[in-house]
Amino acid sequence: AKSAGGNRYEMADAEADARAITRHGLTTALPAALDRSEFFIEYQPLVHLGDGTVRGAEALVRWLHPQHGVLGPDRFIPLAEHTGLIVPLGRWVLEQSVRQAREWQERHKDKVGTGPLRVNVNLSPCQLTHPGLVQDTVDILERAGLEPDALCLEVTESALIGADDEVLKPLRRLAEMGVDIALDDFGTGYSNLANLRRLPVSVLKLDRSFTQGMQQFPADPVDLKIVEGIVSLAHGLDLTVTVEGVETGAQAEQLRLLGCDTAQGWYYARPGPPDRLHELALVDATG
Ligand code: C2E
Ligand code: CA
Ligand code: CA
Ligand code: CA
Repeated sequence: AKSAGGNRYEMADAEADARAITRHGLTTALPAALDRSEFFIEYQPLVHLGDGTVRGAEALVRWLHPQHGVLGPDRFIPLAEHTGLIVPLGRWVLEQSVRQAREWQERHKDKVGTGPLRVNVNLSPCQLTHPGLVQDTVDILERAGLEPDALCLEVTESALIGADDEVLKPLRRLAEMGVDIALDDFGTGYSNLANLRRLPVSVLKLDRSFTQGMQQFPADPVDLKIVEGIVSLAHGLDLTVTVEGVETGAQAEQLRLLGCDTAQGWYYARPGPPDRLHELALVDATG
C-alpha cells in the first residue's frame, strides 16, 4: 500500500508537471492563436421561462488548439487575463458576437411577438479597467448596425465587489446607452444585497449552485425560500433574473414558479454553432 501511495504521489507530481508545461505552452501560444483565428464562439440559447421562446444567446469562447483539440475557456481565459491578451481577445469575441446577433436579427426580421434576438457577452475584470471599453463597444455596435439594447455584457459579481466609481463609470455609460449589464455568477461572492442598488446592472444571473438545489421535485424548502427571496428582491429593484445550469424540466418548472424570468442550460440546449441558435429561435416562433 505504501509503494502504491508512493506511485500515486509520483504520478500526481508528474501530472502537475505536465499541466504546468501545458500551461506555459498554452500561454506562449495564445497571441499567435488569435492571429491564426484558432478561437471560435459557441452560443447557448437564453429561453423565456414564461413562454419557452428563445430570446437570445450567451457567447462562449473556445480555442481549437492544433495539438490539444478544443479547449474550454476555463483552460485559457485565466492565462489570457494574466498576460493581457484578454483585451484583444475579448474585443474579438464582442465584435463576432455583435455581428452574429445582427445576422440573426436579419434572418428573423419577419418574426413577430418576442422582439429582436439579443446576445450576451462575458467581460473579464481586465476589460473593465481598460480605457478603450466604452469606445470599442460603441464602434463595434455601430459597425454592425446593432442597437445597444440587443447587447448584454456579463460581469461577475466578484469583479464588482468593492469596485470604486472609476471602475463603475464605463459600465454606467454603457448602461445609459441602453446596453444591459448582467451580474454573472450571482450568489457565489459575498456582495451585500443592498450594494446592488449602487451597481448599474439590470440583470441578475443566478449561479448554477442555486439551480442544482432544484433538481428534486419538490426542491429543498430552504433552497426554495432563498431563491424566492432573491427573485423578489431583484424584481423590487427592477432587475431581470436569469438562471443558469438548468438541466431538467423539474428545475425549469420550479424556477418558473419562483418567478425567474429567463433560463439557460442543457435542458434547453448546450452551447452550439450560431446557425443552431437560428434554428431553435425559428422553431419557437412558428411552433
Ligand atoms: P459562465 O459565464 O458562468 O458561463 C456558463 C458556463 O456554464 C459555460 O461554461 C456553459 O457551457 C456552462 N453551462 C451551461 N449550461 C449548463 C448546464 O446546464 N449544466 C452545466 N453543468 N453547465 C452548463 P463554459 O463555456 O465552459 O465557460 C466557462 C466560463 O468561461 C464562463 O462561465 C465564463 O466565465 C468564461 N467565459 C466564456 N467565454 C468567455 C469570454 O468570451 N470572455 C470571458 N472573459 N470569459 C468567458
Ligand atoms: Ca456568463
Ligand atoms: Ca455564470
Ligand atoms: Ca461561472
